[in-house]
Amino acid sequence: MLEGRVVRSYSNVYYVDVGGEVLECRPRGRLRYQSERVLTGDRVRVSRAGPGLGAIDSVLPRKNMLERPPVANVDRVVVVFSFHEPELDLALLDRFLVLVSAAGLEAALCLNKLDLALADEAATLRELYAGLGYPLVATSARSGEGLQALRLVLAGRINVLAGPSGVGKSSLLNALNPELRLDTGRLGRKTGRGTHTTRHVSLVPVGDGGLVADTPGFTRLDLGRIKPTELAWHFPELAALTPECRFRGCLHRAEPDCRVKAALAAGEIDAGRYRRYLELLTEVEAAYRPY
Ligand code: GDP
Ligand code: ZN
Repeated sequence: MLEGRVVRSYSNVYYVDVGGEVLECRPRGRLRYQSERVLTGDRVRVSRAGPGLGAIDSVLPRKNMLERPPVANVDRVVVVFSFHEPELDLALLDRFLVLVSAAGLEAALCLNKLDLALADEAATLRELYAGLGYPLVATSARSGEGLQALRLVLAGRINVLAGPSGVGKSSLLNALNPELRLDTGRLGRKTGRGTHTTRHVSLVPVGDGGLVADTPGFTRLDLGRIKPTELAWHFPELAALTPECRFRGCLHRAEPDCRVKAALAAGEIDAGRYRRYLELLTEVEAAYRPY
């Protein structure tokens, strides 16, 4: 019996990497009738069934699963934005970071189109977001700059890229694994929802044991499941201060003896991040459905 990782699936056929070799596997017995229960990213037990062939006997416990794209055992979501074209939108970037955190996943940041960045842009953003604890790389899929640093962020993990369209996610995937040849730069390209691509998500190797889903995630940015009092948990710098506020459930907006407001007045936290927190808070309050 072998153990391996499902790296791609097609209909009821699963491609399982058992360490260097990828076996074309079919699920055995009861698993055959629960095919939706085997996902790309799953660790599975397989037995050989011929040259290059195998049968999946069981699925090992998952640590998590994403719905879009359907991938199990995601270690990290790399939130990709571009410095320009499209212009960097920090409100949208913070929204992605919040959604990734609310899904219980770890986020990293990739700022692409470094070749278009102005003098201090990369350094300023690095200081802010790396300072908050997010692994951060600046890349150019065009010039190749930063790709090695991105590989290190992806190494040894199952990763999903997320971010708005046009920032260069497909270009980065192609640069990381030239065999991919994903379509790039096409307006109105299908984002995957309910289409072929979503069901046939592949994990592509990018070196050092790193795997990346070839379909981006977090294509719906719905904040409706986040409790207003919990929004600050997803802002690391606010989460650290929240226990020191006078009131439990402090929203850090206008409450007395709020440690966050004190930190803001003292310049200890970034004013832009705080403003974006308040904007999201208003939205979360309006969208929250407590059931
Ligand atoms: P996606 O929608 O996030 O997958 O973005 P694409 O990979 O399709 O890229 C969108 C456009 O940006 C394409 O025209 C790419 O050629 C271009 N692009 C991607 N990466 C870079 C980069 O690092 N620098 C520059 N200048 N353009 C890039
Ligand atoms: Zn407070």
